Amino acid sequence: MAIYQILGENEPSLREKARPVPKITPNIIKLLDNMAETMYAAKGVGLAAPQIGVPKRVIIVDVGEELHELINPVIISRSDEEEIDSEGCLSVPEKLGDVSRATRIVIEGLNRAGETARLEAEGYLARAFQHETDHLEGILFTDIAESVYLRPPKEYDAEDDTEDEPEDEPEPGESEKG
Ligand SMILES: [Zn+2]
Repeated sequence: MAIYQILGENEPSLREKARPVPKITPNIIKLLDNMAETMYAAKGVGLAAPQIGVPKRVIIVDVGEELHELINPVIISRSDEEEIDSEGCLSVPEKLGDVSRATRIVIEGLNRAGETARLEAEGYLARAFQHETDHLEGILFTDIAESVYLRPPKEYDAEDDTEDEPEDEPEPGESEKG
């Protein structure tokens, strides 16, 4: 496995529409494995293939429950109800934004075995899937956020006077990084 470099928000390839995967080959399996390793190394909760320079419709999400891998994902329904919450992105590490997202979605795609997988998600997991599928359209959260602001540096969190190691601290505000 290998850890990829995650592209920053100014990379033009992050703005391209990703192409469908016509066939699940050993290279796609390797891509999924390497994406997971890259996401966990970066302490993110989601990653889309365009973020590592691969313009294919492949996403992974793990909000702390289990790893979801989807090839050619499509959100087939969204709740009318939306909620605004703070969101971040591994490609935009220094910023957060308040983004309105559907609270519940149904998403469908292929798993690594080539079988159709359909997932119902709500809350934070639904938000992560919406964020990652946006990447496949070349959309970043900063494009659709109601406001964008700088991520507070963890090292200088004045309210935290514990002696925990910095890497053990929770993400501020459970913000998604994907
Ligand atoms: Zn992202």
